[in-house]
Amino acid sequence: MAGGSIELTGLTKRFGRGGADGGGAGGGGGAGHVAVDNIDLLVPSGEFFSLLGPSGCGKTTTLRLIAGFEQPTAGQILLDGADVSAVPPHKRNVNTVFQSYALFPFLSAFDNVAFGLRHARVTKAELRSRVGAALELVSMSLFATRRPSQLSGGQQQRIALARALVLNPAVLLLDEPLGALDAKLRRTLKVELKALQERVGITFLYVTHDQEEALTMSDRLAVMHDGRIVQIGTPREIYEEPADAYVADFLGAANLMEVSVSQRSDGSTAALKLGDSTLVTSHDCPAAPGETAHAVIRPERVRVEEHGSAGQNRVPALVERVVFLGAATQVMLRLATGASLQALLQNDGDPSRAGLAQGTPVHAYLPPDALRVLPGSPAAALVPAIAAPAPAAAAAPFAG
Ligand code: ATP
Repeated sequence: MAGGSIELTGLTKRFGRGGADGGGAGGGGGAGHVAVDNIDLLVPSGEFFSLLGPSGCGKTTTLRLIAGFEQPTAGQILLDGADVSAVPPHKRNVNTVFQSYALFPFLSAFDNVAFGLRHARVTKAELRSRVGAALELVSMSLFATRRPSQLSGGQQQRIALARALVLNPAVLLLDEPLGALDAKLRRTLKVELKALQERVGITFLYVTHDQEEALTMSDRLAVMHDGRIVQIGTPREIYEEPADAYVADFLGAANLMEVSVSQRSDGSTAALKLGDSTLVTSHDCPAAPGETAHAVIRPERVRVEEHGSAGQNRVPALVERVVFLGAATQVMLRLATGASLQALLQNDGDPSRAGLAQGTPVHAYLPPDALRVLPGSPAAALVPAIAAPAPAAAAAPFAG
């Protein structure tokens, strides 16, 4: 069936004093905690869209507002163009899948899936055929007679999905649905969920704090911070062109280095000072000469070269740690400034990798097209790692 579009305009939810808890829309003055802060978002029909952000950034509240479990303090929620603010949850053409599957323990898988349909008063034949199709969709036909306690976590989540899909919602809201599963199962179900969404063709709005989940499954995603949307884009756009240091940091494994900005000798673009080294970027620099800023580079773009290799954007470093990860090797480098830099090298048979032992002096090449200067600050958790002073032993070789 056709999917549903979601449009949020100025959506705000304030809890506590001055909020609209239990009341209607409007208001917005006074104290209280703003969980969702003036969000504008358009998710077209049939899109797999994720809200990504750390705990407490307002993802679940946004989802609950769309589902109708919370009332907005201000703003509008349009489903397929119609304002649903005053429509109760069960009359909105959306359904929700939660992290805790919330299955009825004494009902079989079949009856759990059939539950909503029995209330919709469909004929017995239609019920059987729709439940059968929904179980088939999630590859659970063989488990129809089992109770939840006789199913694994992943199987229970499949039943919860079937139960939501059997009602043919235009929009499926998913709140960390894989959160309770182990890492291996999450990986499998991630692929299955995306395939399922493509098969049923309805809109999926997926909430997660797991950047890998959001990047692998979504057509587009929004990164949230303190109730606001910081950036919306495709996974590739958000990963490769983060809007600011917070997004780069949250998207994981980014090297964030504090640099001071100066003018290049030809005056055309900015040069970046990282300790004694001068770096150039082929991207626009949002900071002015004289300012300090954060430069970001992904570990897979850092090249580890022999010590003494010459050319622009090469900085001296010491190998601090080498971690074999199977398909790749993670090399932690310590720069003369004390900053650490992570390189991710594919294990492609290159024999020079074997010589990368702890304490080896090298040069790290940071290609200009891979180096971006970003506005803003990284999420607090990463700041100490960047600013940490170098241990005396590691810094010493650069001293002279
Ligand atoms: P998580 O990933 O931990 O579920 P989240 O991004 O989904 O986090 P929300 O659950 O939307 O975050 O919460 C956003 C903020 O609103 C948090 O600071 C939370 O404490 C607060 N909040 C959520 N629900 C309520 C409530 N019913 N009353 C008061 N404050 C609330």
